[in-house]
Amino acid sequence: MRILYITLGCAKNEVDTDRMRALLSAGGFKEAHQVDEADIALVNTCSFLESATTESIETTLMLANEASRGVRSVPIVMCGCVPSRYAEGLAEELPEVAAFVRHDEEDGIVGVVRRVLGLEAPSGAPPTVLRTIEGPSAYLKISEGCDRFCSFCAIPYIRGRYRSRTLDELLEEARALLAGGVRELVLIGQDTGIWGTDIASDLTLADLLRAMDGLAQPYHAWIRVLYLQPEGMTDELIAAIRDLTCVLPYIDIPIQHCSARVLKAMNRSGSASALRELFERLRAEIPGMVLRTTAMAGFPGETDEEADELASFLRDEGFDYCSVFSFSAEEGTRAAQLDGQIPDDVKLERTQRLIDIAERQGFSATASHIGEVCDVIIDGVEQTGSGFELIGHTWFQAPDSDGVVHIEEGDASVGDIVSVELVDSFCYEMIGRIVEVRE
Ligand code: SF4
Repeated sequence: MRILYITLGCAKNEVDTDRMRALLSAGGFKEAHQVDEADIALVNTCSFLESATTESIETTLMLANEASRGVRSVPIVMCGCVPSRYAEGLAEELPEVAAFVRHDEEDGIVGVVRRVLGLEAPSGAPPTVLRTIEGPSAYLKISEGCDRFCSFCAIPYIRGRYRSRTLDELLEEARALLAGGVRELVLIGQDTGIWGTDIASDLTLADLLRAMDGLAQPYHAWIRVLYLQPEGMTDELIAAIRDLTCVLPYIDIPIQHCSARVLKAMNRSGSASALRELFERLRAEIPGMVLRTTAMAGFPGETDEEADELASFLRDEGFDYCSVFSFSAEEGTRAAQLDGQIPDDVKLERTQRLIDIAERQGFSATASHIGEVCDVIIDGVEQTGSGFELIGHTWFQAPDSDGVVHIEEGDASVGDIVSVELVDSFCYEMIGRIVEVRE
């Protein structure tokens, strides 16, 4: 029996699909790469924004249509955020779907798939499998859910309250990934900075990083942490990022806004001066670090002055990478009910202005690395007009989020770490040439 996996949304969803694929592989199911060779399709959905929900439903309906056009009739299992967010009434709305699986039910995926296919239920406890490893970088989800309840965000309602995975569980997974050839562990969660605090009052992300650094050192592997929140940047964590050999000086802190009034309305804390002080401290403590952030344009009630304040803040701070979102009134969130919703054309104009600033600064930050010689992890090979090129990424490029390095000449295998001279750049991409294949 073959399963077609379709994943929508962010890296956290990729991790969830991988976990389900690993469980199903251990249960005897093979992977199909297209619908006409599949016996069943699993769609792992995203519902972070209304547009993501729409895309998830459209993808599911497209699959159902292909079946009705005679491509092949595959039952569809819908997993993840859409079933978690809209549990009630989905079966009626989407009769094309054979089964719905919420986040907290995903460990039982083998039983669901077997039931849909009319097979006997699995016996015994699910096997302890970790994931199907693809590529030299692996996401390691260190927590689930979020307690922050930002007023614009539906995640706490979809994914539930914050739960850290235990230290032992994470170290076991990291050990297995490294032994399996992974060269970079990318730690993710909705709010990575507070990892551990729900397990023990004295357990911190810095403890986890120290333990993981010990495991990663013999492999010369990299550890990257994403999705830190400003309040989570303690002295202990800053020192750990600065001092630990394998932890990259790549700091990802979504700010969303800098105006104290807007941040308060977002149910977040801080102000432009507090954020400035934090980034100054980070730059002083971790020289040469790379800084990524996320900003939101058009939050309800955002005045022209507040929009200008955010634009100036981004201009002044010079982030290496900045993702920009337009506010989206998400069903069930407090911000969707607020007065002062910003008209779409104004939101669009404010968003575009922030994107222009982010790109100007990001492109020039990327170009500032020209002339450096640095380690690159080789991720794959791509065909070009004139042949093939190697694709890799450096410490300052997070997989799937930032640019990559294109290497037109030289010989290396996927997973190698090579020393590369960065000779040119375009937008967020870099061109490099191999100086030395280290491993
Ligand atoms: S920190 Fe805020 S934006 Fe991020 S997942 Fe939690 S509630 Fe949503």
